Amino acid sequence: MNLWGIDLGGTKIECAVLDDQQNLKVIIRERVPTEADQGYEHIINQIKKLVDIVSEKLGEKPSKIGFATPGVLDPDTQTMKNCNTVCMNGKPMKTDLVTALGCKVELANDANCFALAEALMGAVQQVNPDAQVVFGVIMGTGVGGGLVVNGKAIYGKHGIGGEWGHNIIEENGESCYCGKSGCVEKVIAGPALEKFYLKLTGNPLKLKEILERHLAGTDTAASETIERMLEYYGRGISTLINVMDPDVIVIGGGVGNIDLLYTEGYERIKKYIFNNRIVQTPIVKPLLGDSAGVSEQRCCNNC
Ligand SMILES: [Zn+2]
Repeated sequence: MNLWGIDLGGTKIECAVLDDQQNLKVIIRERVPTEADQGYEHIINQIKKLVDIVSEKLGEKPSKIGFATPGVLDPDTQTMKNCNTVCMNGKPMKTDLVTALGCKVELANDANCFALAEALMGAVQQVNPDAQVVFGVIMGTGVGGGLVVNGKAIYGKHGIGGEWGHNIIEENGESCYCGKSGCVEKVIAGPALEKFYLKLTGNPLKLKEILERHLAGTDTAASETIERMLEYYGRGISTLINVMDPDVIVIGGGVGNIDLLYTEGYERIKKYIFNNRIVQTPIVKPLLGDSAGVSEQRCCNNC
């Protein structure tokens, strides 16, 4: 049976269909823009358009689709919450997708899907296949997190399990869409670091260029920005280890690609951890691409 998964991002919606009989080989991958600024109904229409495109190319209709979404379906109200694509909040998205697509739908938080996919099929299998506790971090335009224990994503009582990105890490920090200020996301996500550099210099550079300037040693504001990233990364990750002490941490997202996080960043974790400055947790980059929604589909099929 083919497995259908959709990753619903803030800028693009991607659908992948995998062949369950051929080691989860990707048969087709298509994407459309989210165009979130046009509102919630438009996003539902974009998803329908994408499913129609894939159905036509593949010559089959899905019986079930697993979605990786920002935020989560509130377990009490069955409406979306905590989405950084804020027009989705308060909407009964699962019901609306079932109506629009005419098939079964499973929704799961995208960072939880990421953590689950890497734990079951990705980087964790390479470094520690026996890992019981895995934490997945996405550091990109936002900061998300997912906790997997014994092969299952932990959603928790409110559906917010793993939502590390909205812990407050900086007193009097920047205000966040979540209503608080100084969240991890407002300090070490890409846009937050770029904004910090912009405030220092008046120069709107991308993080990639800020990093290059730091590495070249030519720009003290760039070095200050990268220093800020490393320091708060060390503080943030050390709290994760203190609370959960995971067997493996996987760091995804555009910011998570920065090699310094695995060298100097690792040293900063040692500075803050409650373990005599010794850290043995493998912290690794992800192995899989954008198929996280499909992993949720696989999980749902198994449940
Ligand atoms: Zn926040």
